Amino acid sequence: MSKIGFIGLGNMGGGMCANLVKAGHDVKAFDLNEAAVAKVVEAGADAASSIAEAVSDVDAVITMLPAGKHVHSVYFGEDGVTAHAPQMAVLVDCSTISVEEARAAHEKSEAAGYQMVDAPVSGGVAAAEAGTLTFMVGGAEDAFDKAHPFLDIMGKNVFHAGDSGNGQVAKIANNMLLGISMIGTCEAFNLAEKLGLDTQTFFDISSTASGQCWSMTSYCPAPGPVPAAPSNRDYQPGFAVAMMLKDLKLAAGAAEGAGANIAFGKLAEQIYEDLAGAGFDGLDFSGVMRRVKGEI
Ligand code: NAD
Repeated sequence: MSKIGFIGLGNMGGGMCANLVKAGHDVKAFDLNEAAVAKVVEAGADAASSIAEAVSDVDAVITMLPAGKHVHSVYFGEDGVTAHAPQMAVLVDCSTISVEEARAAHEKSEAAGYQMVDAPVSGGVAAAEAGTLTFMVGGAEDAFDKAHPFLDIMGKNVFHAGDSGNGQVAKIANNMLLGISMIGTCEAFNLAEKLGLDTQTFFDISSTASGQCWSMTSYCPAPGPVPAAPSNRDYQPGFAVAMMLKDLKLAAGAAEGAGANIAFGKLAEQIYEDLAGAGFDGLDFSGVMRRVKGEI
């Protein structure tokens, strides 16, 4: 049994924290939102009233926060993690933040004497609750080894992507591809339908032909062929347009810094930006089908 400080108990962090408790670890949990803390206390975690209390005398600090500015303030703020956690504790940030912010957090943590990994996830709230997330981890080998046993409990796949920030690189490159492939899948289904081919027949053919991709076979944006997909529940998320847009913006920012050509990534960003601007930021990202069809 290890002692863990867990900060950020929202949609994702709540389930992740509960799984660590279920595995027998001693977890001290902190969030600015008291209701979020109460929920994990019900699952068996101990409530902490501050970051300092959550991270004192622990083996690992795990954070699951909205964005980079929250991570930096929780880590390096006046009463933050690096002011109070023991130096042997491994710092594990599971939030999705920019590559630049992640690498800066590594540098500052190391300068303060800590080992850190960036460990963003793929998989949504259901995977966080089920303990089936995929973790993409950046950081030194020994930091990865220290974090691995905890990540194993919260996920079913744990990949070491390389040095600091590489977890975030894997995450944004993957999600940029997802955003692009989803729009392409919508256009293909819409084209087939407009030309007189029914949805199920096109799915049966394309899902076994060269058009096959995850957006089609696991998350089909056309209602019908994949019963569990959000397209069958009026595009309720799932993974909201706002979240996809966040990841595409992170990809665009990183690509600019690296001088990488992402013409389709930028186009996808524009399409999701328009959708969000029209008030559909809470729609599942596969709801871009309704825009392709001209319904919204
Ligand atoms: P969320 O907004 O539901 O949860 C974030 C939590 O952090 C909130 O409870 C908030 O109160 C807390 N918080 C913010 N600032 C804090 C501070 N200074 N101290 C303590 N607590 C603080 O977000 P989420 O959906 O759980 O997502 C978390 C991260 O995971 C994001 O970076 C997101 O991009 C990423 N992610 C989310 C999903 C998803 O499907 N929701 C999937 C993959 C990755």
